Amino acid sequence: MYSIGVDVGGTKICTGIMDETGTLMQSIEVPTLGVEGPESVIRRIKDTILAMFQHVSRDDVLGIGIGAPGPLNPHTGTILGPPNLPGWDGIRLPEIIQNDVSLPVYLDNDANAAAVAEHRYGAGAGAKNMVYVTVSTGIGAGLVVDGRVRQGATGSFGEIGHTIIQPDGPLCTCGNRGCLEALASGTAIQRNAREAFGRDMTAKEVAALAATGEARAQSILDAAFRYLGIGLVNLVNLFDPEVIVIGGGLSQIGEPMFRSLREALAANRFHPTPTKIRLCAAQLGTKAGVIGAASLPFVHQSQR
Ligand SMILES: [Zn+2]
Repeated sequence: MYSIGVDVGGTKICTGIMDETGTLMQSIEVPTLGVEGPESVIRRIKDTILAMFQHVSRDDVLGIGIGAPGPLNPHTGTILGPPNLPGWDGIRLPEIIQNDVSLPVYLDNDANAAAVAEHRYGAGAGAKNMVYVTVSTGIGAGLVVDGRVRQGATGSFGEIGHTIIQPDGPLCTCGNRGCLEALASGTAIQRNAREAFGRDMTAKEVAALAATGEARAQSILDAAFRYLGIGLVNLVNLFDPEVIVIGGGLSQIGEPMFRSLREALAANRFHPTPTKIRLCAAQLGTKAGVIGAASLPFVHQSQR
């Protein structure tokens, strides 16, 4: 059997057919164009799914999985006003797609979908307890507890990005203050760089400048990674994982980030064997989203 995965991102929709071993047979990408509103984006999503049926018979497709930006409720299949997709609040995407394609359709947030992919086919393969953290513009997470990616009551299980690290800290996109995302994400690094240098710089530019020995850039990164380390220690003490997988654009900074995170984890006095927790980079790169989305029908089948 095959499944179809749809990764709905802020800038592009990536749709692919996958077999149960995690091999993508075909995939296509189209621009999301979120500004055109839900109707037009949903039409593009449907078109990419229909395009897949040119390569595989509908009878051989187990179902369709969709990964989309949160917040969303995976249990009811309702999208809840994501900042990247204006006008989507309350839309029941699986229901709409299901009416057209007559196959079961599953929805989960993009971080959970990527966690499913890394757990089944990537850096966390074989782990019983795994934490996946994606660090880019925001900070998202997907958590495997006793072999399953967990969703919680409303789909926001283990959302480390919005744990409060610094009360009275900078305002977060969620409305709270001092969330990890407001202190350690690419957006936080950009904000601190603008204050320090008086111009707009991407987090990657700040990292490149820090690598030349520039002290202000270095201290901005150090602060962000220190907060990220605190967030990981909190996750470890809450969920006791054997593997932590870090993905997202900022993880490409590589060793300077991982060194700092390893130090934070090793300094955890509570955990009995903190240096035995495996910290590694995500393996599936930009395809994690579509592979994870395509995994959702298989996950649902195995849990029935
Ligand atoms: Zn927040």
